[in-house]
Amino acid sequence: MENSTRLLAFFIFIITQAHAQIFIQTKTVYIHNDSIRVKIYNRSDNGLVYFNMHDDENLCVEEAVNLLENTGGRLIELKHFGALEDKARYVSVKKNNKIYTFDPNRIFTNNDSVRAITLIEHRQFYQAVNQLKKLSASQMPTEAECVLFAKNELKILADTLISLLDTSKAKIIVALHNNHSFEPRCDDNCNFRHGSYNLGTYFRHETEENASADEIYINPKRNLSGFFIVLNHPVFMQAQTHRCNVILQAENAPDDGSFSVFAQHNGLNYINIEAKRDSPDEQRILLRTLSDMLMEWRIEP
Ligand SMILES: [Zn+2]
Repeated sequence: MENSTRLLAFFIFIITQAHAQIFIQTKTVYIHNDSIRVKIYNRSDNGLVYFNMHDDENLCVEEAVNLLENTGGRLIELKHFGALEDKARYVSVKKNNKIYTFDPNRIFTNNDSVRAITLIEHRQFYQAVNQLKKLSASQMPTEAECVLFAKNELKILADTLISLLDTSKAKIIVALHNNHSFEPRCDDNCNFRHGSYNLGTYFRHETEENASADEIYINPKRNLSGFFIVLNHPVFMQAQTHRCNVILQAENAPDDGSFSVFAQHNGLNYINIEAKRDSPDEQRILLRTLSDMLMEWRIEP
């Protein structure tokens, strides 16, 4: 049997349930003998696809599901498994007694070396509920094993997600993220740190964020944590008309494996919405603005 087929047999089971007029499917995507789940909310087939890939960012999903009635479209949410559900940013999966941990928003690239970075960066850790924990030496993959895992398993996972998003038919893909202003929790041995993330991050020199932004508009009356990232100038101007903070991503933004850069390289119509994870008002303003913009583009529910 071909390696890729053996490693990843997906769509093993589908649970379909009705939720008002939204049909929810859960698909299991296998990675070696481990798996993640993908929850799909179907409201209509109008070409609008919301995409949430970080399982600890839930406010954006709740609010977008509420908005599906108005905007139509589909929402695709990556879910971890078991007790980790809703409480973990990264994904940890097991292969041959080694644990591979990665950021699901760093796997969308054609460059295997870029895709390996997230595995190498996290290779000492595994994602537990709400925190990263240190792996024992015997469970830690080597850098060479990370490179191989990126080339095989992570590539298959990325391709599977891209096919679920149906990028060739999508009129617009809206990434949903929630940011925060605190460091993620680690256990006592964990030295891994990520700073908080908001519009201010894009003004820090010599950061990837700084290099990825062409233009930035800030409405001083709005919080720095709530903003759009867009890929073309007309949409950048449109967001300004709605008085929303917005970043125009540079055409030559460095390839970091994020879906934003993948969308740009593949000519997809794409918007990323960032809002603070405990600010429902901020989240609603941005989603309502998106809804207005969709009407202006004549994307009907
Ligand atoms: Zn996120």
